[in-house]
Amino acid sequence: MRLELRELTKTFGPGAAAAAVNRLTLAVGAGSIGCLLGPSGSGKTTVLRCIAGFERPDSGEILAGGERLSGPDCWVPPERRRIGMVFQDYALFPHLDALANVAFGLREADAGSRRRRALEMLALVGLEEQAQKLPHELSGGQQQRVALARALAPHPRLVLLDEPFSNLDAEVRMELAQQVRAALKAEGATALLVTHDQREAFAICDEIGVMRDGRLEQWDTPWTLYHSPATRFVADFVGEGTFIEGTVIGPGRVQTELGVIEGQLTVERPAGAQVDLLLRPDDVIHDDASALRAEVVERMFRGAEFRYKLRLPSGATALSFVPSHHDHAIGERIGIRLDTQHLVGFPRE
Ligand code: ADP
Ligand code: MG
Repeated sequence: MRLELRELTKTFGPGAAAAAVNRLTLAVGAGSIGCLLGPSGSGKTTVLRCIAGFERPDSGEILAGGERLSGPDCWVPPERRRIGMVFQDYALFPHLDALANVAFGLREADAGSRRRRALEMLALVGLEEQAQKLPHELSGGQQQRVALARALAPHPRLVLLDEPFSNLDAEVRMELAQQVRAALKAEGATALLVTHDQREAFAICDEIGVMRDGRLEQWDTPWTLYHSPATRFVADFVGEGTFIEGTVIGPGRVQTELGVIEGQLTVERPAGAQVDLLLRPDDVIHDDASALRAEVVERMFRGAEFRYKLRLPSGATALSFVPSHHDHAIGERIGIRLDTQHLVGFPRE
């Protein structure tokens, strides 16, 4: 069911210097998984709490499937919003087994249908074998899957997830992220996930909004956020990269110390404009045959590849992912060439 926020604003207390959520407008399509990505304190949890009905917004509207949940003259209490929630601390009932935890909120009249639905949801998250286990007999990742099954079981019109993986090991996280996405899609759920971890956001979500100080900087697909960040903040926060200085010399042409770089500029600038050009590690290709040389100043072995930090002649740095059979020492000067399709340039700061 489509979720819409219109100019949502929430300020805590009269003494607050700035609004925790500031005129936030966004829409998550029915069956789609949206994400709010941003640093700690940017207002993500406050948005979710407003949608769930745990906070009352100062102004703005919240709509689900066209129905107003919150607005200037309207307020649906949390228990009538039909929203499923998953938090970072699982919040399972410790004395109930997995099955009873999932069945807890179900309203089906007879025990048989409640049990069937709960088992169906446990199967969806791959835990049908663990139905009789108590929460403390399950791993953190398994507990979080029970929490998701419980949130999905009553057919909520919307599922909200607040940093659901932040208590889990890095290895468990990415795999669980895939399972969570698959379960949400299998149920056709509309969901909004909150995280400060870009890898999680990319793994799960169809669309991502980057938040900063209560405002939305950009709402786009992961691919567009990465390749065409609308602001310098988004460029820095999403993915890795560095900036090099350039001068626009014509449409889609920028003169830099690495030569003339060609590609589509996300925002056209007039000739002569000074820009800082974003270079992603995958734009910088190591090529022994290239006359362009850069010095290795840092190397990080990541298994299949190295991530080299390179110093360019001007002293600017660039990052490059290089297959790990190209094993170069710090101080070595290696050949590079650029492969950029999308030029992202911001006015020189
Ligand atoms: P995030 O989830 O992105 O870390 P939050 O939504 O929790 O951010 O917080 C946004 C801002 O609102 C922060 O400055 C935080 O200190 C403030 N805030 C959140 N909840 C409350 C509250 N109950 N009372 C006062 N200030 C709050
Ligand atoms: Mg939070």
